[in-house]
Amino acid sequence: MRVPPGVTSKDFSDAIKRWEEAVGREWVFTSDEDVDLYRDSYSPFWHEDLEPIPSAAVAPNTAEQVQAVVKIANEHRIPLWTISTGKNLGYGGSAPLLGGSVVLDLKRMDRVLEVNDKNHYALVEPGVSYFDLYRYIQDRGLKLWIDVPDPGWGSLIGNALDRGGGYTPLRDHFDAHCGMEVVQANGDIVRTGMGALPGSKTWQQYRYGFGPYVNGIFSQSNFGVVTKMGFWLLPEPEGFKSGNVLVQRHDDLVPLIETLNYVMNSNIVQGTTTIGSPLLMSRAAAQTASGAGGSALVMSPGGPSVEDLEKIGREQNLAYWNCELNFYGPPKVVEAEWEYAKEKYSSIPGVKFIDGPTYTLPYDPKDVDKLPKRQFGIPSLTIFGLMGRSEGHMWFSPIIPMTGEAVFEAQRVFGQAYHDMGVPAINQIFVFPSSFFPRSFVILCGFPIYHDVEKNRRSREVFKGLVKAAAEHGWGEYRTHTAFMDTVSDVYSYNDHALRRLHETIKDAVDPNGILSPGRCGVWPKHLRKART
Ligand SMILES: Cc1cc2nc3c(=O)[nH]c(=O)nc-3n(C[C@H](O)[C@H](O)[C@H](O)COP(=O)(O)OP(=O)(O)OC[C@H]3O[C@@H](n4cnc5c(N)ncnc54)[C@H](O)[C@@H]3O)c2cc1C
Repeated sequence: MRVPPGVTSKDFSDAIKRWEEAVGREWVFTSDEDVDLYRDSYSPFWHEDLEPIPSAAVAPNTAEQVQAVVKIANEHRIPLWTISTGKNLGYGGSAPLLGGSVVLDLKRMDRVLEVNDKNHYALVEPGVSYFDLYRYIQDRGLKLWIDVPDPGWGSLIGNALDRGGGYTPLRDHFDAHCGMEVVQANGDIVRTGMGALPGSKTWQQYRYGFGPYVNGIFSQSNFGVVTKMGFWLLPEPEGFKSGNVLVQRHDDLVPLIETLNYVMNSNIVQGTTTIGSPLLMSRAAAQTASGAGGSALVMSPGGPSVEDLEKIGREQNLAYWNCELNFYGPPKVVEAEWEYAKEKYSSIPGVKFIDGPTYTLPYDPKDVDKLPKRQFGIPSLTIFGLMGRSEGHMWFSPIIPMTGEAVFEAQRVFGQAYHDMGVPAINQIFVFPSSFFPRSFVILCGFPIYHDVEKNRRSREVFKGLVKAAAEHGWGEYRTHTAFMDTVSDVYSYNDHALRRLHETIKDAVDPNGILSPGRCGVWPKHLRKART
């Protein structure tokens, strides 16, 4: 049996015995066979001693059991790593950041506590997956939509706490939450917002309650264990429409995105939009087919000029840029919104439009497989088919401004960074940005994982190089794999790491023994701060 760092075998055995009494013997896992299931199946440390492997896992079934588990851990100073459904693939999976931590697995707490179809919200426990909530709503014929990330098997709570995103108007998952229940490191339970008022009638309707609004400190953090969370849902729209805008020249991206900002920030266009380039994608596909890889999306030094590319676009009748717009609302309204968006875009010379279908809702459940599932909040695992067969990936995901100029700069900066690091074209991972979150773009690049130590070491080096290059241009990651949490936290360094000092002050106050998820997002407890790499 592995033992957590800094804990004696005797203390660990005592804790395990007490956890077994608290949650039931069958819910404390210590055998290698069981514990290995919590390893990160997309680990960038495969076959290296650096891989953080948990020592055990405990799976409570109620908030009271969570309290008991946390109190015992606190007494013995045993590091815990909390997961909801533990499907955080690409960002660390269910594995801890600090090897030897005990996984606090909340997936047995899978109760949908309330769904309200008049005020459009749900209150759920951590183990409730997107599939679970979707089925709950469908089984009862409620006229509500949820918002889903690409993989539907994750949890609303785990995803929102890592500040994940989806595709509908409620795509910013942390922003869509309302009210939390949190078990603190000393075992105390706190309810935030209106939940602090005993018998509150508006816990899921009004976010702020009274006094300092603390919810943010429980996201991407290690300040508590969230045991309940409310989420706003979308009333089932009466219609949905999409339309595609295509522009011909390189510089047309600037007005394309400027207008996108206007129609999005005015709530005419809703949900996630991804910038595409039929021209560059066709070149990338040709390069991939020939084995040269995806460097066509970045502007590498010595690569083709913009004029060359525009000429190819004209010859092959390929638009330089495009973006798909989504509209939610009554059919008459979404048709009118699309017409309005076309009017706004028509000032770009040579712009073309492709009308998507207009859906009249509700849809017939028989048709689910014909629908654009993620825009409709229908959970699925389709993405794993689209990503192809691989040994996994880790996400490099910088946020850049929502402007054409920033996209050009990102193409240049990352092209140059790859070039400077000697990364061959085939390994230059880049994708175009999405409006996953309102008012900014995120570039979600999936770096492949290998069962090859040298390749992974190189990948990690390149990943760190890109984090640095991004930071030098004012861009930071929105979220990262546990392997890079210190690296990313390091670049958020304004005023000699004032934000980190604040995080550490809070950490010391709310978790003085440092038992909750040590190292998460660069926040280490006092006794481990020197361990930072
Ligand atoms: C192919 C692919 C596509 C993906 N697409 C998307 C996407 O579209 N959108 C997106 O957001 N993500 C995406 N992901 C990333 C990831 O799979 C999802 O975000 C997933 O929902 C996270 O897993 P989870 O919900 O099980 O969270 P968990 O793994 O349970 O939690 C995530 C983290 O939050 C913290 N945490 C969890 N629960 C608690 C709690 N109760 N209290 C305190 N802290 C807690 C922990 O640190 C944990 O590591 C994708 C991944 C892959 C592989």
